[in-house]
Amino acid sequence: MPGNISKIVKAIIIGAPGSGKGTISSRIVKDFGMKHLSSGDMLRGQILQKTEAGLNAKKYTDKGDLVPDEIMVKLILNEIHSLGNVSWLLDGFPRTVAQAIDLHKSEPVNMVISLNVPFEVIIDRIKGRWTHLPSGRVYNTEFNPPKTPGIDDVTGEPLVQRDDDKPETVRQRLETYNRQTKPVLEYYKNMHLLTEFKGKYTNEIWPRVREFLSTQMITVSSIDYK
Ligand code: ATP
Ligand code: MG
Repeated sequence: MPGNISKIVKAIIIGAPGSGKGTISSRIVKDFGMKHLSSGDMLRGQILQKTEAGLNAKKYTDKGDLVPDEIMVKLILNEIHSLGNVSWLLDGFPRTVAQAIDLHKSEPVNMVISLNVPFEVIIDRIKGRWTHLPSGRVYNTEFNPPKTPGIDDVTGEPLVQRDDDKPETVRQRLETYNRQTKPVLEYYKNMHLLTEFKGKYTNEIWPRVREFLSTQMITVSSIDYK
């Protein structure tokens, strides 16, 4: 029996802000052993470290606008190239068709998972969201609270409410998503790479995503046996 022969999987997860991308991504990487690349976490890392890219990006993230494609593409492709030959899951990138085209030129992906959650549910959910900035771990006071309020379970460090999680900014981010990221879904649909998961709750969507990925991974790795 061949042991660990499996093909490298390059996947994207797309969904509106607060659609559960971060939570589902962390479950995917845990169960399927992929590397998680979150553009938002990367940007917040750059902002915390006050790098040039970070200071530049903050002007946009604070307003709920997208960071210019050029900055994003450079940041993400650098990170992907530094990983070497491993499976990865991109979360939060690409968010414009221009980014998708640039990614395709240099790193074509195998699959795109889209999370479709109603906007009313999202707006409600983000109100209770608390984030551990260094890791990107998220909690929700309503349905996924930390063991101690305001404290990260893993590190014991403080949790914060993100500057861009204020209700007006959330509305702006959802509009940006409709305008700039929806066309990315069309782009991947036309390439027959898109699978959509619809629902209100992460715990309802997750089993379906896991099921789908399990069958995909088998298909992908069996290609390698030939
Ligand atoms: P959530 O974390 O709830 O999924 P989100 O997807 O809006 O919400 P992040 O992915 O953390 O949040 O991104 C935060 C901000 O960083 C975005 O509002 C945007 O300003 C910027 N950003 C992240 N990824 C990109 C990208 N690919 N292109 C342009 N800007 C980006
Ligand atoms: Mg996120």
